[in-house]
Amino acid sequence: MHTIAIVGGGFSGASLATALLRNPPAQPTRIVLIERRAEIGRGVAYSTRAFPYVLNVPASGMSADPARPLEFVEFARTRRPDVAPGDFLPRALYGDYLIERLAAAEREATDHVELQRVHAEVTSVKRADDGGWRLGMSTGPNLAADIVVLAIGNPRPASIAVGRGLDRASDLWDEAGVVRGRHPVLIIGTALTMADMVTRLEAHSTREAPIHAISRHGFLPHPHSAAHGAPYAGDAGALLRAASTARALLRFVRSMTRDAVERGQDWHDVIAFMRPHVPSLWRALPRSERKRFLRHVRPYWDLHRHRLAPEIERAVTGLRESGLLHVRAARIKSLESWGDQIRATLVPRGGGAERKLVVDYVINCTGPDYRLRNSRDILVGQLLRERLVTPDPLDLGLMTGPSGEVLDAAGKAIPALYYVGPMLRADWWEATAVPELRVHLQRLAGTLAAA
Ligand SMILES: Cc1cc2nc3c(=O)[nH]c(=O)nc-3n(C[C@H](O)[C@H](O)[C@H](O)COP(=O)(O)OP(=O)(O)OC[C@H]3O[C@@H](n4cnc5c(N)ncnc54)[C@H](O)[C@@H]3O)c2cc1C
Repeated sequence: MHTIAIVGGGFSGASLATALLRNPPAQPTRIVLIERRAEIGRGVAYSTRAFPYVLNVPASGMSADPARPLEFVEFARTRRPDVAPGDFLPRALYGDYLIERLAAAEREATDHVELQRVHAEVTSVKRADDGGWRLGMSTGPNLAADIVVLAIGNPRPASIAVGRGLDRASDLWDEAGVVRGRHPVLIIGTALTMADMVTRLEAHSTREAPIHAISRHGFLPHPHSAAHGAPYAGDAGALLRAASTARALLRFVRSMTRDAVERGQDWHDVIAFMRPHVPSLWRALPRSERKRFLRHVRPYWDLHRHRLAPEIERAVTGLRESGLLHVRAARIKSLESWGDQIRATLVPRGGGAERKLVVDYVINCTGPDYRLRNSRDILVGQLLRERLVTPDPLDLGLMTGPSGEVLDAAGKAIPALYYVGPMLRADWWEATAVPELRVHLQRLAGTLAAA
């Protein structure tokens, strides 16, 4: 029997398995979905947690299948009949949806395809003498497979371990529960994960001590805006022609924003108009211009592109207004143990006097560390050592081909080895959220079904 092993049962792995069960290869096929976390189908983002974190994309944007755009809204209505497409729903509910659609696809699958769920960590992927793959497992026997798909998600954040720092926690979102309102806190990072932390810290115990949040620019994410009616009607051809340099692109986006404002719209509409074209823009930029984009434009792109659910933004603003949340543009010069506490020395952006802060907890919200050579993950280490995966030269993720084929250092596809997930962004830029990932995984499912 033909075996497809999917390493990682988060959104990408579970949705790929669902797509393959719905549209399987012609020959008898076994899909083996392997996940090291307790539950298969949720991944890091959509796990069940004590605190009801919400999605940062409205329900209407979260269907896992681009051909069935309202699938998630319809699922959510089976639990809460009053759900509207614009609602920002709990992330755990989204995990329920992923698990339920996988189970339904399994029930409805034709006889010649089967799903096997394995709860284990894959510790190695090696080429076998017969030309297939052998997967080493943390528990149980090795697995033989014809095709391996790495759906292993994002790398972990860089370590800032010190004292009672929460950065080594296996699940930051759960571990934050130990921080009480009397504890002063320093959060490193001011993007979406920081907003998660702040809302949790505020919700579960009355906050008396300050929260300090820092990042290089000190930017806070914007909220999603209410729909403006008609989408912005930009000139996609002109946008794509402007993609030769980062500077020309930035200029063009500014001119579109002015145009949108004149038409009674705003930058939200311009970002929404651009989003489907971003992969083409990114792929058209030469490497030197991608580098320029990363250095000069990226903080502004990230700020406008990654937005907060309105209720989360209100909570963050409320804390700032009450003087309990201080957001600064600064970098950490040092973190040192200070009795039972941690003393941080901060250097403000643009110079100025250093500032010392003494806190009870430091929470690392810096996001994934895409410098894969720093990875402490067993499987990633083995794949790098044996040159089965290649980090991209700009440290954004993995080098991959058009359907997620894993490429070697010479740019040649390694037969029968694929990756799907956020590290596709090296090649596509936009690949971290569901609206883009679902397209990548449908394309990969089509390739695997036809292989
Ligand atoms: C907290 C958070 C909230 C988010 N919210 C949204 C949102 O609201 N909307 C949105 O569109 N996007 C959101 N995202 C983006 C998110 O990256 C994608 O939506 C998507 O969940 C990525 O799924 P994935 O399966 O590729 O990665 P992951 O969810 O990271 O799943 C990878 C899985 O692989 C497993 N794994 C890794 N290595 C091994 C191994 N060696 N052996 C076995 N198992 C392994 C991991 O345990 C994990 O479960 C969020 C991300 C985070 C972190």
